[in-house]
Amino acid sequence: MKIYNTLTRTKEEFVPLKEGEVSMYVCGPTVYNLIHIGNARPMIVFDTFRRYLEYKGYKVNYVSNFTDVDDKIIATAIAEGTTAEEISQKYIAECKKDMEGMNIMPATVHPQATEEIDGMISLIETLIEKGYAYDKDGTVYFRTRKFEEYGKLSKKNIDDLEAGHRDIKVVGEESKEDPLDFVLWKPKKEGEPSWQAPWSDGRPGWHTECSVMAKKYLGDEIDIHAGGEDLIFPHHENEIAQSECANGVQFAKYWMHNAFLNINNKKMSKSEGNFFTVRDISEKYDLQVLRFFMLSAHYRSPLNFSDELMEAAKNGLDRILTAAEKLRDAIAAGNDNGLTDDERIDINEAGKFVEKFEEAMDDDNNTANAISAVFELVKYSNSKIDENSSKDFAIALYEILLRLTDVLGIIVEKEEELQGDEEYIKEMIAKRAEAKKNKDFALADQIRDELDAKGIELEDTREGTKWNRK
Ligand code: AMP
Ligand code: ZN
Repeated sequence: MKIYNTLTRTKEEFVPLKEGEVSMYVCGPTVYNLIHIGNARPMIVFDTFRRYLEYKGYKVNYVSNFTDVDDKIIATAIAEGTTAEEISQKYIAECKKDMEGMNIMPATVHPQATEEIDGMISLIETLIEKGYAYDKDGTVYFRTRKFEEYGKLSKKNIDDLEAGHRDIKVVGEESKEDPLDFVLWKPKKEGEPSWQAPWSDGRPGWHTECSVMAKKYLGDEIDIHAGGEDLIFPHHENEIAQSECANGVQFAKYWMHNAFLNINNKKMSKSEGNFFTVRDISEKYDLQVLRFFMLSAHYRSPLNFSDELMEAAKNGLDRILTAAEKLRDAIAAGNDNGLTDDERIDINEAGKFVEKFEEAMDDDNNTANAISAVFELVKYSNSKIDENSSKDFAIALYEILLRLTDVLGIIVEKEEELQGDEEYIKEMIAKRAEAKKNKDFALADQIRDELDAKGIELEDTREGTKWNRK
């Protein structure tokens, strides 16, 4: 299997550090809001890659963090008159709901930065002891120039960086020895969450968090470190500097980065109004459509989100789900005479779609080509299944389809039930609105309770009633 390694800018054969095992760290979201569909891209892409590693028989230790201390979280807490902890806990729970909707497997561990502060303090202590970091009035900085390999991931030349930095003096950071140095620990400001440390009451820098969580749950050397391409610099470059200077070994062997998701060919931006949360999408589509849409492109290609492309993804997914349904019907109606010779040959032939699928996934997680192989399988299956098919034949084809769709994280068994559900839910919401209009609050409450019992939560907003699965 080959993966494209950002560190070497080439596709490399994947050889894990320990035979049969893979350690993988994926940078998770900062939790101050509902996650947007851009955040969903690395989640879906790397969850699929993990599933494929497991399909190939690797034992995968998959760690993905929640960044739960950050300026944006603190700002949101202040704006809403609550604590940073309350904001982050709320949005971690919401994020987990979205992940479930997108059928993203829970990580082996989902560490939270605020629970790992001790490890961060000890990493910073090690860096100070080794001369890679220094304390200036309670702020600890990393001595960037001292790490000779700085820039090896982003391919940035340290002297160019220096030129860019010369004019930019960040307020409060005048005491740095060198403009290139970055913050490992910063003293608290009034009203901010803080922890005691030898240098000041304060909090760690963002880059420090990931170095520490990766080390604690995966060790000093890990196989794969992944995230969106915006993280290459400075986040991942700084993680490398800290981890390699502290631990004295190469941090991650392979670095994988997904390209960005744009909306209507423009960068996603809240201020321009081209911005969707995963929750927004869940109101119109089953989130598997979003998953399927993301996987229909190569993860290193920019992907454009639009209504037309989502509709195309929905139609494509429906083709697979319909074929699965046809196979289930054939299993129910098929004869019990066992496989005929021709059916045996046909099953063997279907093996070529599995080979194609694996070839695509082995080529740097090429889910777009893997999906093409599934489409070919579906077409083949539709053409081979008829009223004379044996039950065993239908079962064999169904099992092949399930094996492949499982890797993609697409559930082929639930769609019927869900589509029925969605119409029903919308109908009930309309009935409840009508009841409220007629001031029949007892009926309105009864409808809400009935949906609640079915695991559907309603939320009345200015734009109308929204729903989601609990
Ligand atoms: P953040 O919460 O900004 O730290 O982002 C969490 C993850 O989402 C990181 O891996 C980002 O690189 C990724 N990400 C953010 N925006 C996008 C986008 N528009 N397209 C793809 N990935 C994104
Ligand atoms: Zn990170």
